[in-house]
Amino acid sequence: MTDLTDIDRTHLRRAIDLAALAAERGDRPFGAVAVDRDGTVIAEGANAVSSTGDVTTHAELVAITVATAAGKAEDLRGATVYASGEPCPMCSAAMVWAQVGRIVFAAAAAEFGPILPGGPSFTLTCAELVASSNVPVEVSGPHLGEEALAVFRAAAAR
Ligand SMILES: [Zn+2]
Repeated sequence: MTDLTDIDRTHLRRAIDLAALAAERGDRPFGAVAVDRDGTVIAEGANAVSSTGDVTTHAELVAITVATAAGKAEDLRGATVYASGEPCPMCSAAMVWAQVGRIVFAAAAAEFGPILPGGPSFTLTCAELVASSNVPVEVSGPHLGEEALAVFRAAAAR
């Protein structure tokens, strides 16, 4: 696992802020930020499953959809996606399809799962899903420890 740079931490904290905003409107607390190879933020996403009724509106998929709608699908190639929580298999696969270069997440699913009940869980990790593909994507996480879990504890206490 690679060490985080200060820039990585900044984007990861933004993803956690987006997760908190999602929780405020009643969605599950997940946020994501997509940053292109030049370091420019190309899209942000937050979980919107409860507010939209669309189970595919996970934070990472929202970020990919927003980037694509803005004509930035090419910029996703080699980009880094920062996620407040470990991406599920659906999102991990979508990031492989998008040819993202790197996935950095804060809380591991094994950590936030017991805190935030409801919804399915998977034994397949993000790293395992990505490694099962023929696309080289770096996966880094978990990071930020308790700082990453606070948003889940707050949401669970609502
Ligand atoms: Zn997902």
